[in-house]
Amino acid sequence: MRIGAVEAGGTKFICGIGNEQGEILEKISFPTGAPEATLLQVINYFKDRQVDAIGVGSFGPINIDKASSEYGYVTTTPKPGWSNYNFLGSLKQVFDVPYGWDTDVNAAAYGEAAWGAAKGLDSCVYFTIGTGIGMGVLVEGNLVHGLVHPEGGHIPVRRHHADPFAGACPYHADCLEGLAAGPAIEKRWQAAGRDLPADHPAWTLEAYYISQAVIHAIFMLSPKKVILGGGVMKQVHLFPMIRQYVKAGLNHYVSAPELITDIDNYIVPPGLGDNAGLSGALALGLAAIKADKAVK
Ligand code: ZN
Repeated sequence: MRIGAVEAGGTKFICGIGNEQGEILEKISFPTGAPEATLLQVINYFKDRQVDAIGVGSFGPINIDKASSEYGYVTTTPKPGWSNYNFLGSLKQVFDVPYGWDTDVNAAAYGEAAWGAAKGLDSCVYFTIGTGIGMGVLVEGNLVHGLVHPEGGHIPVRRHHADPFAGACPYHADCLEGLAAGPAIEKRWQAAGRDLPADHPAWTLEAYYISQAVIHAIFMLSPKKVILGGGVMKQVHLFPMIRQYVKAGLNHYVSAPELITDIDNYIVPPGLGDNAGLSGALALGLAAIKADKAVK
């Protein structure tokens, strides 16, 4: 079987072909431009590749309510041209195959549960911390959608006493994303995260804020694994700092050996590395084939 996968990001698109084993056989990427031109590139890529299904993990917010007439749309993004764009519809016009469609972070959580760090588990939470902060949630084997979809990047957080930065989120100022996403680091320190040394005070703040999101996830969703991906988490020295803050914040209240004695294997980077998003889209495509067969 050949499954088409699309990781649709706000800055770049990755398209690929994979199989049932989760192997990515080939892939390409290109910058995200205007929607019509970008989708044309996607269509041109899949045109001669004979795919049996297509899975899409998209930047959002997007409509993932199958009962809605706007299912498959990008909804309220500030990204020029993309607001209210019928993303999935423009693919459906060209390829008559089953489709998987979800947020990029839900896709990543799904892929990690299929083949990555949460393999064999029926629940995990995936945070991506990069240009923005997103949260994907898998509970009892199902991705969480609900009213819209989880937006765990915008939760309010307790301020660090040594952080006077006003916050960079255009909606909430000092929400988690406003304090801890890549642009917040850059605004606060006038330097990109990748240029700051590992002992820079930026990382204490970063770990302090990210750990709060992890603590909320543990208390509210009780995931069996927490995966932290995205550009900011390439700073691997953040992991031990975050784990320490999480342990202190939980203070042994949640009685699970995973948290108390084995937290190094509980809060982890994506097992699929930079392929988490694309593999997730692949897993969505596979699930779409199964769902399609079940209907027929
Ligand atoms: Zn916000």
